[in-house]
Amino acid sequence: MVIIMRAGATAQEIGTVVQQIEHVGMRPHLSQGEERTIIGVVGDERPIDRTVFELLPGVDRVVPILRPYKLASRDFKKDDTVITITPENGKPIKIGNVKNGLAMMAGPCAVESRQQIIETAHRVKEAGANVLRGGAYKPRTSPYSFQGYGEDALKWLAEAREETGLAVVTEVMSPDLVPLVSHYADILQVGARNMQNFALLNAVGLSRRPVLLKRGMMSTMEELLMAAEYILSNGNYNVMLCERGIRTFETYTRNTLDINAVPVLKMLSHLPVIVDPSHATGKWEYVTAVSRAAVAAGADGLIVEVHPHPTEALSDGAQSLTPENYVSLVTQVRRVAQAVDRIV
Ligand code: PEP
Ligand code: MN
Repeated sequence: MVIIMRAGATAQEIGTVVQQIEHVGMRPHLSQGEERTIIGVVGDERPIDRTVFELLPGVDRVVPILRPYKLASRDFKKDDTVITITPENGKPIKIGNVKNGLAMMAGPCAVESRQQIIETAHRVKEAGANVLRGGAYKPRTSPYSFQGYGEDALKWLAEAREETGLAVVTEVMSPDLVPLVSHYADILQVGARNMQNFALLNAVGLSRRPVLLKRGMMSTMEELLMAAEYILSNGNYNVMLCERGIRTFETYTRNTLDINAVPVLKMLSHLPVIVDPSHATGKWEYVTAVSRAAVAAGADGLIVEVHPHPTEALSDGAQSLTPENYVSLVTQVRRVAQAVDRIV
């Protein structure tokens, strides 16, 4: 349920409500709206008597949230969540809400060398990106495929940030690696294969780094929102949802971009929605067209694989754009963004 405080409720009145929530064994999550404070109450609501809260001073009303996700829901927070990331050495980036520019995340699937990531960082930055991607720990179908350079790769990413001012997003695959990856990265990526790794969701929820949560390839939007709920309920409210294509019967593309997810998730949730056209299509030839569609549909950003020499890439070369092709993508996306009142 959510407790909607009266406009002008005092800090003391809010404090009393919070105490009462904790007293009945539930957890309060405060959301400061433009006019009023809304308090999300999570936990097992079955034994709770709502009238106890309705009678407290400063409370306007108590409203049940009927959807299974509470903190991720628009019922809890009407305004779009805006995540601010300030990379060391760079300008603040605001992600979410039409008033802000698009998050343009780009870089190789995997960090393959210091030189590769630094070169790519410069190229994507010149093209208009504001976040650098690159995997240090790679979830690979085969145990014999390249698994990533681990901490060395994290250090190279941090160097690339130092040189370019780009923020860094990289995947974390297990709870024990959250402190290490958080030390180097500005955004923690939870990959599609780990969307329902609940121990990992709890761990990134306890960290204070923003999280890019990718939709599982066989997960519904509701499951994605429930996964986000794990992170939010641990106190980390900076979550971005990422549509990266789902598995269908179609074989001409690697996955099928569920474009519906963009407006549906934006309607159901206040969290920013990012689209990954690279994993959605699996073929670089389609990445730009699908990016245009994602921005037209209302995405708050794109995460695109770019490699200086895609044919030599250690992973996902077939879906990686050359830096030149990324320039063309940004130019085209900029025009679409303008048409839907966004900026790149
Ligand atoms: C990736 O971003 O390189 C990746 C492995 O993505 P996903 O988890 O969406 O497959
Ligand atoms: Mn990849």
